[in-house]
Amino acid sequence: MAVRDASLPGDETVDSLVMVLDEVRLSRARSRSELVARTGLSRAVVAQRVGELIERGLVSDGSLGPSTGGRPPRQLSFRARAGHVLVADLGATSIDVALTTLDGQIVAHVDEPADIAAGPEACLTRADELFAELRDRRRQLPGDLWGVGIGVPGPVEFRTGRPISPPIMPGWDGYPVRERFAERYGAPVWVDNDVNIMALGEWRSGVAVGHRDVVVVKIGTGIGAGIISDGRLHRGAQGSAGDVGHIQVLDDPTVVCRCGNPGCLEALAGGAALARQGEAAAREGRSERLRAALDQRGHVSAEDIARAASFGDPVAVALLQAAGRRVGLMLASVVNFFNPSLIVIGGGVAQSGDQLLAAIRETVYRRSLPLATRDLLVQRSSLGGKAGVIGAAAMVVDQLFSREAIVRWMGEGQPTGMPEIAVAASSL
Ligand SMILES: [Zn+2]
Repeated sequence: MAVRDASLPGDETVDSLVMVLDEVRLSRARSRSELVARTGLSRAVVAQRVGELIERGLVSDGSLGPSTGGRPPRQLSFRARAGHVLVADLGATSIDVALTTLDGQIVAHVDEPADIAAGPEACLTRADELFAELRDRRRQLPGDLWGVGIGVPGPVEFRTGRPISPPIMPGWDGYPVRERFAERYGAPVWVDNDVNIMALGEWRSGVAVGHRDVVVVKIGTGIGAGIISDGRLHRGAQGSAGDVGHIQVLDDPTVVCRCGNPGCLEALAGGAALARQGEAAAREGRSERLRAALDQRGHVSAEDIARAASFGDPVAVALLQAAGRRVGLMLASVVNFFNPSLIVIGGGVAQSGDQLLAAIRETVYRRSLPLATRDLLVQRSSLGGKAGVIGAAAMVVDQLFSREAIVRWMGEGQPTGMPEIAVAASSL
């Protein structure tokens, strides 16, 4: 038998170590016997791995659990306060920042309006300021900083943490978001698009818990989707999976999208498109409520339309229904292709009214194959605006405890001060 190095687990033990840790930290198993049942590992191997995780301060052998007759089992728990994570979810028009423990619980959170088009320097400097504010607010932080997670409203090459040709983010193309934060905080940094982190959030602690095949659609200024496939986030070969906003749904050269192509879904049914359509209706005198919004602020927003619709304004209702039908038609194709058990609708526009969701639901059920919709659920996001920060924390922690990353920092006790981990290990 090989002598095990005390600081570095042998290659063959890492798989079982990660497996055991995942079961405990995701609250799927609370005792050694549950671990044996769930992982298929032997009792001896489970005992050894648990012992190692306790020794390394990642798991604790806490209170006695409920007895089922014999000696009550010791309850294992993940030491979520061994460290903390800083996350920022940058949207087109907002920034959400949070400090979480290693199980994704939010310790402190702040959000405010922002403009992604102001460019990376302005937006990321503001994120720094808000991070500092959150840290100052707490007298005692849970452990050291273990990692940083950033979401941005555009395509991201996950391996490098760089936005690639993002249509609504001028100045961000190829910007080294990871390097910038890694240098400042000396911690591993992961970057993904805002919809992927939202999907992770809903899947880990929102309406999608327990589902294995989920499509999470964000309808904000633009439209995008995050995909959970067979129990994991599907980022695709480069990290651009789910960019459904730029599927062509109309053959009309006069409707040009921000990406430069004609007829994109986003150009017809996204928040910016809705706002434009609402403003036109206001100017043409077709809706008094939208006219009032235009007079008051000089423009009409998607939120104004949702509000007007909630008061029964027929023009606003028709706009939301038309947008919902367009999104629903796209989703019907996705349902036929991917067969999810759940579609989650979130984002600022979807959050604000029922008409849009109703139209999406009706179109999806009418236009998808019966077998695909037999048990299909279409639900609104349950985490609302916080899905992004919760998901960004899950992204960081999942990556830190991935097989590729954990072998690089376990010998040190914690990943603090090791930004290179993220560069070496960004598993899709
Ligand atoms: Zn487009």
